[in-house]
Amino acid sequence: MRYVSTRGQAPSVGFTDAVLGGLAPDGGLYVPEAWPTFTKAELAAFAGQPYAKVAAAVLGRFAGDEIAPAELAAMCEEAYATFSHKAVVPMTQIGPQTFIAELFHGPSLAFKDVAMQILARLYDHFLGQQRRRQTILCATSGDTGGAAVEAFRGAKNVRVVAMFPEGRISEVQRRYMTTAPEANIACVSVQGTFDDCQAILKDAFQDPVLRQAVDLAAVNSINFARIAAQAVYYFTTAAALGAPDRAVNFVVPSGNFGDAFAGFVALQMGLPVKRIVVATNSNDILARAFADGRYSRGTVQATLSPAMDIQSASNFERLYFEGVKRDGTETARAFEAFAKAGVIDIPPGALSAMQATFTGVAVGEDETVKTIVSTLNETGELIDPHTAVAVAALSHVKLDGPTVVLSTAHPAKFPEDVARASGVTPQAPRGAADLAGRKERFDRLPAEADTIKAYVRAFAEG
Ligand SMILES: *Cc1c(COP(=O)(O)O)cnc(C)c1O
Repeated sequence: MRYVSTRGQAPSVGFTDAVLGGLAPDGGLYVPEAWPTFTKAELAAFAGQPYAKVAAAVLGRFAGDEIAPAELAAMCEEAYATFSHKAVVPMTQIGPQTFIAELFHGPSLAFKDVAMQILARLYDHFLGQQRRRQTILCATSGDTGGAAVEAFRGAKNVRVVAMFPEGRISEVQRRYMTTAPEANIACVSVQGTFDDCQAILKDAFQDPVLRQAVDLAAVNSINFARIAAQAVYYFTTAAALGAPDRAVNFVVPSGNFGDAFAGFVALQMGLPVKRIVVATNSNDILARAFADGRYSRGTVQATLSPAMDIQSASNFERLYFEGVKRDGTETARAFEAFAKAGVIDIPPGALSAMQATFTGVAVGEDETVKTIVSTLNETGELIDPHTAVAVAALSHVKLDGPTVVLSTAHPAKFPEDVARASGVTPQAPRGAADLAGRKERFDRLPAEADTIKAYVRAFAEG
């Protein structure tokens, strides 16, 4: 399987290079040259299988001959054995034909674990083959850092430096990063804001001297392996609800559009996905784009669902590329213009192709809080604010057939906000309960790029 860039100017690469490379050299995102497909019989057979087996089948189509099937199967087994629920992604019914898929049973209690656990194993495997060692530098305002630390702790060929803004993330979020005892993990509390952290990150990646000394990598959601890993639960949940004989709807709480795009990938692979509802908070760039065809950046507002406080959704470029019938020149023009002017007018043909699958819904803060309360009252389920945005979106759309709402975080990841809304303090699941008692380990540094780059270099070379 070869991977091409959405901007059409970079040479195609294999799966290994698409995974390790991140962004394509022309600034585009990698997508498979052609979508692999499953037959109806193969889709139906997913219904009875363990999650890790379906994951190996789906990822195997993307990896092609670059990983031996038995090795990939072992990696999937190991990745999903870290989840605290035997079903990995279990479902709970919350209404007639309506189900919640719980994506939060991984080690950091957020859906990022589903992709990050397998991504870490793929990285370690490919780097070992190439006798390379990389250092992942990440800046986090919330869940990504914790998921990355949990996934890469103990990796042989990868070190992780996780930066977070001092005093601006929750204690639970901080502890998921700072309590890993493994020597390949370093955490830095930056005396500044999240924007300072991001500016330092950008500076580091653009510094030729540092990049000469340290093989730097990033694990943000533009990595195609993350998308492929997220397509897996579309297959398992739809098969459990009667696919391929019945078509299934999905409602997805969205920020960077990686999760929702994974549903589109499952559709391309043959899964009968009827409609994907893209649920946003008041940072509604995607909801506006699907409604009126104008993809235009707004100012970011802080909400109760911080992982979705995003006003430019990186993975939208992949959908645009499909919408304009894989015209890389047009995609490059549109997204280069977006970087400058902050707006794309989606061509009518591409917009109607998108609208055939996607509906966008924006949900306000009051509605989010009310939905946490009503869901608890009507079903007994305590949901987190990100999930609540998706559940609230249900009442704005008319769907028929079975519908799966993706639940992206455990309520105990946001204990204060959930307790304030519902009056009930969410209990952390087994295994996470001793988080508060674990020893923390991190360094405090000023928000100066040179200081932090010297730290990264010393850590990577040490
Ligand atoms: C990252 C995240 C999302 C958004 O997912 P995207 O793939 O960026 O759209 C939603 N909920 C939670 C809890 C997250 O951590």
